[in-house]
Amino acid sequence: MQTSEVLRAWKKILQGESPSLSIEITRECPLRCPGCYAYDADHLGGGKTLRDLSDYKGDELVENILQVVDRYQPLHLSLVGGDPLVRYRELEQLVPRIVDRGIHLQIVTSAFRPFPIAWTQNPRVNVVVSIDGLQPEHDIRRSPATYQRILSNIAGQKVTVHCTITGQMMKRPGYLDEFVQFWSDKQEVKKIWFSIFTPQMGDSLPEILSSDERAQVITDLNHLRKLYPKLDMPPEMIQQFATPPASPKDCIFAQTTTSISADLTSFIGPCQFGGKPDCSQCGCAASMGLAAVGDYKLAGIIPVKSIFDLSFRVGRSRAKRQQTPLVSEKPFQILQ
Ligand code: SF4
Ligand code: SF4
Repeated sequence: MQTSEVLRAWKKILQGESPSLSIEITRECPLRCPGCYAYDADHLGGGKTLRDLSDYKGDELVENILQVVDRYQPLHLSLVGGDPLVRYRELEQLVPRIVDRGIHLQIVTSAFRPFPIAWTQNPRVNVVVSIDGLQPEHDIRRSPATYQRILSNIAGQKVTVHCTITGQMMKRPGYLDEFVQFWSDKQEVKKIWFSIFTPQMGDSLPEILSSDERAQVITDLNHLRKLYPKLDMPPEMIQQFATPPASPKDCIFAQTTTSISADLTSFIGPCQFGGKPDCSQCGCAASMGLAAVGDYKLAGIIPVKSIFDLSFRVGRSRAKRQQTPLVSEKPFQILQ
C-alpha cells in the first residue's frame, strides 16, 4: 500500500467510515464445501440464511452494486459469495466500472468457470482462488471446482491461491510443503496465502486445529516462506496466528471492513464470517495481516494499533453526531 492510500484510509476512519467493503454479490454457489461459513444457519445472525435472501441479477445487480460502492466509497472492495463467478456476465460490466473509480478490487472464487484475462492483467484487480489442500482432499471438498478444472480455468492468468488450513491437513507432516511446492511451480500463480480454519463458538469439527497443530503451522510457514517467494506472508503476519485478536473489538480487520450480504441491505457481523466466530481460534489471513500492521511501532515506540483505536473512537463519535453511521453498527450490537 502506498503512503497516499494509508492516509486516505486513515481519513476515512476519522470520518467514521470503513476503508474496506465486502459484498456477497450472489446467494448462489455450485459448490457445497464442508465448513463453509457463508451458508451457516447463523451467518446472518439467525433467522434468514444466505440462501433465503432475495438477490439481484443482470443490470439490476450491476447498478445496485455500484450504488452501494458509491455510497461507501471504499478503498478496497472484496466481491465474494456464494461464488461471484455465478454472476460472471454482470462482473464483466462491473469490474472495469469499479476499477475506474480508483478502487482496489478482490474477487474471491473457486474458479469453477473461466474468467476474462483482462481482470488479472489489471494491477488493481486481484482474483483469489480458494484451493483447500492437495488434489485428493480438495477434489472431494470442492467438487465441481476440482484441480483439473481450476488448472484449465486459470490458464494464462495471474491469480492468488488461498488455502484454508484444516486439522485434517496438519495430521500429515509435510502437507503444507507439498501444497506450496505444487502451486509455486505454476506460472499462473503470482502469490500464495494461507488462512487457518476459524470455527464458530462451540463448534467441534475435524477442521479445527489443536494448539500444537497451530504452532506447527507457524513453524512450517516461517520455513516455507524462505523456500518459496510466492508465499506472500511476512513473518510478523505469520506470528499473529499464535495470538489472534481477543474479540471483534480488538480486530482491526473487523472494525475497518463493512460486510454486506446478497440482498445488499443485510449487514454481516462481527466480521465476514458472521454468526459468533471464535476469535481465540481465528485464522483469517486478513485479520492477521492487519494485526501485524497494528503491532508495528512508529518511531520504535508508539504501536499503530493505539493510533488506530483513537482514530476509530473519533470517527465513531463524529459519525454519531452527524447521524451517518456508514460503519456497520452490527458488530457492536452483537457484543452488547
Ligand atoms: S465455494 Fe465458498 S461459498 Fe461456495 S460452498 Fe464453498 S466455501 Fe461456501
Ligand atoms: S473471528 Fe472475525 S472478528 Fe474475530 S478475530 Fe477473526 S476476523 Fe476478527
